[in-house]
Amino acid sequence: MNATTIMPTLVLAADPAGGSSNNLLTTLQGLVGPLIGCSIAFFVIFSLSIVIWTFRDIRSRTQDFLTQILATVLVAVFNVGGLFIYMILRPRQTLAEIYERQLEEESLLAEMTERQTCTNCHARIEGDFQVCPSCGQKLKRPCPKCERLLELRWTFCPYCATHLTGGAPPMQNMPGVPSMQPPSGMPMGGPVTGNRY
Ligand SMILES: [Zn+2]
Ligand SMILES: [Zn+2]
Repeated sequence: MNATTIMPTLVLAADPAGGSSNNLLTTLQGLVGPLIGCSIAFFVIFSLSIVIWTFRDIRSRTQDFLTQILATVLVAVFNVGGLFIYMILRPRQTLAEIYERQLEEESLLAEMTERQTCTNCHARIEGDFQVCPSCGQKLKRPCPKCERLLELRWTFCPYCATHLTGGAPPMQNMPGVPSMQPPSGMPMGGPVTGNRY
């Protein structure tokens, strides 16, 4: 009596459990479809993204249309493998980087040509030097009126229109004028005459 009453209760007890596992299986089976769908969608979007990324990247690195198309097709066909190959083969620098480097080089070159050197000893000199600091070579002279620095070959001051007569240029250009020697015997003129001879 007892056993028969227990058995149905056991069966009854086991039944709901079996039903829930079945339910779980069916819900899992129901989930597989959307999961596969999601994976496929992800894969498609991912593939499209890397193709777009590659197209943008190659366009920033080269202007050659054929290379742009080839790189994009490579990634579109071989997907991640194509992207891997593209990363190995792509030009190292972007066009912006190349342009930046060119600008840098040009400014450096301009800076270098801007630098003046002494015609006598090739030491570096600045634009406002009157004499070379290393060898004493006369580079410029001050205007007697406005005192701005002038090139030695100028005969007129471009700043105050003074006509520069006599003085420094003949001393420099004409070799050995005996009458000019006394002024060059002054401390400033000493090294200049010493250099010339
Ligand atoms: Zn010098
Ligand atoms: Zn002047």
